[in-house]
Amino acid sequence: MRVHAYAAPGASEPLVPTTIERREVGPTDVLIDITHAGICHSDIHTVRGDWGPQPYPLVPGHEIVGVVAEVGSDVTRHRVGDRVGVGCMVNSCRGCVNCRNGDEQYCRNGMVGTYGAPDRDGTTTQGGYASHVVVDADFVLSVPAGIDSAAAAPLLCAGITTYSPLRHWGAGPGRTVAVVGLGGLGHMAVKLAHAMGAEVTVLSQSLKKQEDGLRLGADHYHATSDPQTFDELAGRFDLIINTVSASIDVDAYLGLLAVDGTLVNVGAPAEPLSLNAFSLIGARRSYAGSMIGGIRETQEMLDFCGEHQIGADIELIPANKINEAYDRVLASDVRYRFVIDTATLG
Ligand code: NAP
Ligand code: ZN
Ligand code: ZN
Repeated sequence: MRVHAYAAPGASEPLVPTTIERREVGPTDVLIDITHAGICHSDIHTVRGDWGPQPYPLVPGHEIVGVVAEVGSDVTRHRVGDRVGVGCMVNSCRGCVNCRNGDEQYCRNGMVGTYGAPDRDGTTTQGGYASHVVVDADFVLSVPAGIDSAAAAPLLCAGITTYSPLRHWGAGPGRTVAVVGLGGLGHMAVKLAHAMGAEVTVLSQSLKKQEDGLRLGADHYHATSDPQTFDELAGRFDLIINTVSASIDVDAYLGLLAVDGTLVNVGAPAEPLSLNAFSLIGARRSYAGSMIGGIRETQEMLDFCGEHQIGADIELIPANKINEAYDRVLASDVRYRFVIDTATLG
């Protein structure tokens, strides 16, 4: 099946309209008529080669929402007409210890990424900036009623990437959580941590988005460009979620943690991050990382969002604005996620 898409021809060229081939619907597959695809900063890192060479031409997009158009003969979990989502993975080995524990994102044999990964039929996976996708039913999520499809798309990456560490490190009543960077991931972290009952602080480069931050659910908002912020908030937080796509001064942020506090890096800059061991030793602090979340947890997150009426704050764009949106994300000019209306793909 030939479908409309937008692809990066190379690391330094703008994305262009194209068509790609999708496989036949197999017995365990679901064909999704994509309605919305979010633009994640990881799409930009990937297509620009920040994380290494890529198989071009590459169709990015791992925040996919659409409607089931066809199901394979063995599929029972999804039906034609259901509203569904696909995130960063489309398969994994299912047999290793991590897959069996529901942590398919850490599959010991390597999860199959939604784009740029070798697929089970030997082809390269292509992502959600497309009109349709065929995905194994076990990696297709149900989107709860009550969340608009455009606002739901970013939950499939930005939502789960922040929900998972917030849950893992116990964000909730009586816990102080700081979110570094108010972009796609950051604004979801604020909404989710607030809904979990934590006391939430935003640490942004400036106070430009303060009003938004407080509206999204933050209790406090500080500018990291003001050195006083680091004195005033020293030793304050149980948990810090760093969503910044560039290098940060890790030691400065570790200094904001209380005894036993944890700084979790979800931001994935191209350059290595370094730290001074004394920043950890001085208060039994932890420095950690986290990657998206497993399939079961992603469904749990979607259901949590349905229950709490949480979606992303988005700017809906036509496909011909994708390159402009990339430039705006790189300039931290996003409020707070660009989502492609895939009906405009052609
Ligand atoms: P985004 O929308 O661009 O948000 C990043 C935010 O970081 C910006 O809005 C900005 O917030 C802040 N920032 C940007 N450049 C900065 C700089 N030089 N110094 C300080 N702060 C800066 O990006 P995103 O889509 O949320 O993704 C964020 C990062 O997470 C990316 O590296 C992405 O690849 C990664 N990611 C990781 C996972 C995972 O599984 N671990 C999943 C998805 C994404 P302020 O303007 O508020 O300062
Ligand atoms: Zn992403
Ligand atoms: Zn596995």
